[in-house]
Amino acid sequence: MTVPVIEAVGVRKRFGDHDVLRGIDLAVAPHEVVVLIGASGSGKSTLLRTMNLIERVDDGQIFLSGTDITDPRADADAIRARIGVVFQHFNLFPHLTVLDNVTLAARWVHRTAKAEAAARGRELLTALGLGDKAGAYPDRLSGGQQQRVAIVRAILTEPELLLLDEITSALDPQLVGEVLDLVRELKNRGTTILMATHEMSFAREVADRVVFLKDGVLVEQGPPEQLFEAPQHPATIEFLSRVH
Ligand code: ADP
Ligand code: MG
Repeated sequence: MTVPVIEAVGVRKRFGDHDVLRGIDLAVAPHEVVVLIGASGSGKSTLLRTMNLIERVDDGQIFLSGTDITDPRADADAIRARIGVVFQHFNLFPHLTVLDNVTLAARWVHRTAKAEAAARGRELLTALGLGDKAGAYPDRLSGGQQQRVAIVRAILTEPELLLLDEITSALDPQLVGEVLDLVRELKNRGTTILMATHEMSFAREVADRVVFLKDGVLVEQGPPEQLFEAPQHPATIEFLSRVH
């Protein structure tokens, strides 16, 4: 069996007396696109944040390509360098050009030489339709373009895993499509992706597997056609009837 790129085993997280993750088991295989759905507060972001070591798990383990990243002795910076992350709110540096934003992590975290990082950055920006923006500052870009730049930045160093958390929910509706097009392109390139989204039609189209969380429990998962057309669990049926 292939080793999952990321695997959560019995992951629990509690804030105060609130059990936010209540024993999550979830594995993502190489090149797989897995989409997390569930009501606001169901624990999607917290789960993604435990994988990037922003939150420490209270119990359970998380393995990144077989390495136990929840081991307290694990090197958090080295682990984070293997994972690309994009959140809802783009956090590009306003005083840096698009190219400098995109290459910053490569240069500082991965110690890639400036010229090499710049060449790779230009190449990737061009390949993903942002070539003419390399010298621009973020405030000259639309929200959709900024979010696409944030994605390019996250994949420049070819991370093993890409975590995307509601990357379109802060965007005007007319800008959502261009960001989702880019995710579709990354899927075609074989990127391993775990993403949380409210975009059910996109989940249906792009996911290899859809995972439904409710109150910190993984209630049901399956291929999109199964989960959306023939959900088995009453909680899934109830959730989908509300969001469709
Ligand atoms: P989702 O992304 O599915 O909307 P979250 O993972 O953001 O859900 O949140 C799950 C629950 O955990 C929510 O009730 C939220 O208020 C709570 N929560 C998240 N982060 C914290 C925190 N740092 N401190 C306290 N409660 C938190
Ligand atoms: Mg969230």
